[in-house]
Amino acid sequence: MKIKCPKCNENAELAMDFSVVTCEHCDLDMSYGEYVKFVAHNEKKYSDILGDYTGSTEGQTAGSLDEWD
Ligand SMILES: [Zn+2]
Repeated sequence: MKIKCPKCNENAELAMDFSVVTCEHCDLDMSYGEYVKFVAHNEKKYSDILGDYTGSTEGQTAGSLDEWD
């Protein structure tokens, strides 16, 4: 299925079995697990914002995302 490429924001392709993500526009080729990590890392700044927001209700920080570094 088509998903948004985390590198170039063009259409990337997620395999039907969720095993691999490929993008013909920027030669992206990674496992879905790597893709999830990549997206999570790229959107860390948004996660931090959300972390601040949800932190007031759940008492959690976004610190756990630091492990992606
Ligand atoms: Zn791409």
